[in-house]
Amino acid sequence: AKELGRNTYQFYQPEMNAKSLRRLSLATELRDALERDQLELYFQPFIDTVYGQICGVEALLRWHHPIMGSVSPIEFIPIAENTGMIVPIGQWVIEQSVKRYAEWRRKGVKPLRIAVNISAVQFRQVDLAEQILRVTNQYGVPPSALELELTESLLMRDVESATAQLRRLKALGFTLVIDDFGTGYSSLSYLRRFPLDGLKIDRSFIAEVNRNTDDTAITLAILSMARSLRLHVTAEGVETREQYEFLTRHGCHETQGYLFSPPIPEAQILPMLLQDKPA
Ligand code: C2E
Ligand code: CA
Ligand code: CA
Ligand code: CA
Repeated sequence: AKELGRNTYQFYQPEMNAKSLRRLSLATELRDALERDQLELYFQPFIDTVYGQICGVEALLRWHHPIMGSVSPIEFIPIAENTGMIVPIGQWVIEQSVKRYAEWRRKGVKPLRIAVNISAVQFRQVDLAEQILRVTNQYGVPPSALELELTESLLMRDVESATAQLRRLKALGFTLVIDDFGTGYSSLSYLRRFPLDGLKIDRSFIAEVNRNTDDTAITLAILSMARSLRLHVTAEGVETREQYEFLTRHGCHETQGYLFSPPIPEAQILPMLLQDKPA
């Protein structure tokens, strides 16, 4: 066992070092990313399956580093969570999203939902609801227009305090949805107990929907369960016409994915939102 330990040590060490070095430098660089104006929000539309119109947009973070290039949120969000940087970054995301939405409305965009991702660290802040309300009040945006996307694992970690937090947020009128639904563990009884408005079916199920029998069965089960609990459903990662038609046929309310549009900068989303304006 000792031999094996030493061999494994020698084998993995260089790679571990490269990884932790990168993580360390990303953590250091991330501290100044906000002030240096390196963060940007991209927006991806949700499409209503009944009217085929844009009914909301999700704000997704992008980090453009002058030397490291563009760093994926898959990589830097966990670092931001570990270093606590997610708190100021998360606040910035909320403020920018609400501000953009208020500007869009002034320019004639019809009422939509603007969705933001909330990380576990942010969610644990006791004054989160008041903090967000301050922002929506400042920009004159109705709280229901702001959709907060929360993951199952975040909610299931401590069900008691999660329920209390969700109630505070719901009492102020925010729209609450579970993101990446189906990938974590959550029981039906909790789903009923949480004051939720909707679910987003994880894109891993959508990728093979209507092809892989298991993924099809899971998607249909989620849709039928959501219907009985009166939850609104968005399918993520819709890339093909076939997936879109399958989901529409089975009562999925909204879709989001490359079929309609990838996440795009604000200068590109605004004309799309204006086009969708009722005549
Ligand atoms: P997510 O919240 O599940 O966001 C959806 C991800 O799927 C996005 O990746 C989006 O670009 C991608 N996507 C959308 N449509 C398609 C499609 O049709 N096909 C495929 N293959 N992918 C699609 P992105 O932008 O790289 O973000 C990754 C994750 O990073 C997000 O997953 C979210 O968990 C996290 N993230 C991004 N922005 C924020 C943020 O502002 N705050 C927090 N806490 N997390 C964020
Ligand atoms: Ca999301
Ligand atoms: Ca998701
Ligand atoms: Ca995801």
